[in-house]
Amino acid sequence: MSAGDRNLSRTDELIALARPTFGDAELAAVAEVLASGWVAGQGPRGADLEAAMAAHCGVGHAVAVSSCTAALHLSLVALGVGPGDEVIVADYTYPATGHAVLYCGATPVFADVRPDTWTLDPEAAAAAIGPRTVGIVAVDTFGQCADYDELGTLARRHGLFLLADAAAGIGARYRGRPAGSLADVTCFSLHARKGITSGEGGVVVTDDAALAAAVRARSCFGVRPARERERSDELEVPVFDVLGWNYKLSELQAAVALVQLGRLPELLAARARVAARYTEALAGGDGPAPPTVGEGRTHAWQSYVVTLPPGVDRGPVARTLRAAGVQCNIGTFASHRQPVYRTDARCPVSADCFARHLAIPMHAGLTDAQVDRVIDALAEAVDAARSRHAPEAVR
Ligand SMILES: *Cc1c(COP(=O)(O)O)cnc(C)c1O
Repeated sequence: MSAGDRNLSRTDELIALARPTFGDAELAAVAEVLASGWVAGQGPRGADLEAAMAAHCGVGHAVAVSSCTAALHLSLVALGVGPGDEVIVADYTYPATGHAVLYCGATPVFADVRPDTWTLDPEAAAAAIGPRTVGIVAVDTFGQCADYDELGTLARRHGLFLLADAAAGIGARYRGRPAGSLADVTCFSLHARKGITSGEGGVVVTDDAALAAAVRARSCFGVRPARERERSDELEVPVFDVLGWNYKLSELQAAVALVQLGRLPELLAARARVAARYTEALAGGDGPAPPTVGEGRTHAWQSYVVTLPPGVDRGPVARTLRAAGVQCNIGTFASHRQPVYRTDARCPVSADCFARHLAIPMHAGLTDAQVDRVIDALAEAVDAARSRHAPEAVR
C-alpha cells in the first residue's frame, strides 16, 4: 500500500474482485532466474514446476505451457482431435474451452450444466453423444470439480476421452482425490485470476506418458526441448517431424508459479475462510443465494459467485456495488450464446446462470472487515434494485 492509499478512509477503499498474493519469495525467485541467464522456456525452473505439479496431482507427467488455453489446444491435438470430430463441452465456461476445440478444426457440442453445482450435467453429456463424438471436456466451474466418476464411466462406455478444464480447479478435491488426477488429462491455468498465478501460464497433467510427450513436443514447435538436447555432447540438429506451436512458459513465470504452488495450502485456506464468511451471511436469506458445494467436494474458491433472486435486475445491482467501491462481474459465459460458435444448442440452466450470476470479491488477501463491507453493500444494492420495481410488483 502506498502512502497515498493510506489517506483513503476505510469505506472509500476499492475492494478488488481478484488480486494475486505475492511476497518476497516470488521476488527472490524472479531475481534468481534473472541472474541465471536462462529466462526462456523449458529450463530448470520449468522442470521443477512440472515435477511439483505432477507430485501435487499424484500423476506421472506434467508439461508447463503458456496458458490454460494453450494446454487445452495441445491436449486436444495430442488426443488426435481434428476436422469432422465432435467434442462435448460443458456450456457454462470461459469460452477458451470451446475455442480450443475450434482451433483443432473440430466442433464443440455444448451440453448443459447442473442447476446446483453449475458443472457439466452427466445426463446432458450422455444425451449429446453422437456418431462423431470423440471426447468430453468437463470444467471445474469457479473451482469446484465436476462429476468425474459419472463422466469417466460414460466416457469409457463409449470409448471417448475425458479432459478436465481445471483452469479454476487447482487445489480442488473430489471424493478425496485432487483435481489433476480425475480425468485422462487435466489443464490448469496460472492466469492472474486463478488460485495460484504467474501472470499468465498453464500446465497439462496426465498419467499417459505418450500423451505428455506429444504435448511437450507440440509446445515447442514440434521438436524436443532444448534442455534435453543440451545433455548431449554432440551437435544435435533438431528434426521437425510434427507441427507444433510456441506455447512455452518462461522461466520467470515458472519460478513464480513454483513458489505459488508451495503456498497453495495457505492460499486455499484464506479463500475458504472468505467463502465461509460470505456463505454464512447469505444462507437462508431472501437475497442473493450462495453457491452450493456438491457432495464429496472441496471447493477451491477461484471465484465466489452468487445467484440474484429472480426479477432482480443485475445491471443496477452491479452499478450500485461499484459506486460503493466493491468490484463485481458476471459469473462466466453461456458458450452456446456466443455467435462465434454458430450453434443452435439449448442449455437453459447455463443461460440462466449467465443471466443471474454475480461474482463478488474473492482473493486470499481479503480481510474480515472487507468481506463484511461486501456483504452489506450487496444487501443494500439488491434492496435498492428491488424497491425500484416495487410499484409494479404491488399492482
Ligand atoms: C481462465 C479459464 C480459462 C483460460 O485460462 P488461460 O490460462 O487464461 O488461458 C479456460 N477455462 C476456464 C474454465 C477458465 O476459468
